[in-house]
Amino acid sequence: MPSGTQATLSDIEDTLSRKGWRTVFPPHLEQLYQEDVGKVRARAVKRALVPTIIIYNLLLITDVALLPQTAHVAAFLHFAVVTPGLFLLYFLYFRVSGFLQRQVAEAAIPVLICAQTLTVMALNDAPNAGYYQYFVPLILLFSNVNQRLDTRIANVTSTVILLLYAAVLYFQVMPPEQKLAGVSFILVSSYLGLSANLRAQHDARYGFLFRLRENVRLQAAETEAMQDPMTGLGNRRHLASFARELLPADGEGRALSAILMDIDFFKAFNDRYGHGCGDDCLKAVADMLDRTVKGFKGTAFRYGGEEFLILLPDSDKTIALGCAEAVRMAVEDLAIEHGSSQASPFVTASLGVSSGMVTVDTFQLLIASADAALYAAKAGGRNRVMGPDGESTKIAEPRQPVLLHGRRVLH
Ligand code: GH3
Ligand code: MG
Ligand code: MG
Repeated sequence: MPSGTQATLSDIEDTLSRKGWRTVFPPHLEQLYQEDVGKVRARAVKRALVPTIIIYNLLLITDVALLPQTAHVAAFLHFAVVTPGLFLLYFLYFRVSGFLQRQVAEAAIPVLICAQTLTVMALNDAPNAGYYQYFVPLILLFSNVNQRLDTRIANVTSTVILLLYAAVLYFQVMPPEQKLAGVSFILVSSYLGLSANLRAQHDARYGFLFRLRENVRLQAAETEAMQDPMTGLGNRRHLASFARELLPADGEGRALSAILMDIDFFKAFNDRYGHGCGDDCLKAVADMLDRTVKGFKGTAFRYGGEEFLILLPDSDKTIALGCAEAVRMAVEDLAIEHGSSQASPFVTASLGVSSGMVTVDTFQLLIASADAALYAAKAGGRNRVMGPDGESTKIAEPRQPVLLHGRRVLH
């Protein structure tokens, strides 16, 4: 089953709600369907190879019994033409990868068998030759019900087989009653085969859509459960699964850095500007954070109320300190007024950094160490980055706003 991320729920609902039976989806869904069904079909084709060749060649017994005068021709066609042809088609089937090409390779199998059968029939004017036409419905059944070719291909295949049959029958010497019986038999069986094919196609296609819809819904629910609704960043649940993926239980240690960031004097910000403005501030900070850490191949999570965690896989302390400082400056550059901060006229943040070779067992220690560094950054005066060994970015003066082209920027 393809992952539902490529298909939107409305695409699927739209297709499901359309009236009439669909044997082709809109291109986007059609591609997903073909990818999904392709794997199952390939397994079925592999399984069918040996039985098809055995049953087909066993039918030579009927040649010997019914038409001994052309049995040698039939044997030649069976063993020198059709059987190698079938192997070639199966070989081609697995060489090509397109859905349509594979279907054409499959469809050529009944056509080849039918052409051989009708050739032997055409070479005979013995009364027994008339029995040969009764193989054609079996071939139609094989193509439409057993192979379950895609309906469009099945229609073309049945038409080719019917045309081959009509051409041979036209010249065949046979009592008219026998011709009539053969024609009715073959027309009815092609109708039954094609309608069964259409039904199976419908079930397969709509079954696929229902399964895809479930997958998309499940994925949406999973994403929702992993996301902080206000900032759109990953939440603690996402952090846990991210860490599990990053640090497999039996894996060796991995170079990992953690940065814990906490907004300075945020309670005072809420008290002064209101909770709504507080929320807006958190959203703006989270948005900036997400963009900034992506430049360092990092991932940001909302760790708590106004606390954020950044994980930087495969990074060392120098990179992590650089990232933390870039984030600190970016928070300041948002230039969100904070009249109640003792650190700056604007909203600022303090950041604690920790780096090391981490395993799943020492992950929490990494976070605790970043937390300790954050505590030190707070204690050191806020609006600064603190490293695991006491490294600190020095804040000379709080930056002051200036007007540039009518926009307020920091100087
Ligand atoms: P410090 O500089 O030491 O970090 O001080 P602080 O005021 O930022 O820290 P404190 O832990 O005292 O207060 C955190 C505040 O963050 C309190 C809480 O109301 C606020 N907060 C937490 N989550 C949210 C939220 O989702 N929206 C808003 N508006 N405020 C939040
Ligand atoms: Mg806090
Ligand atoms: Mg705070």
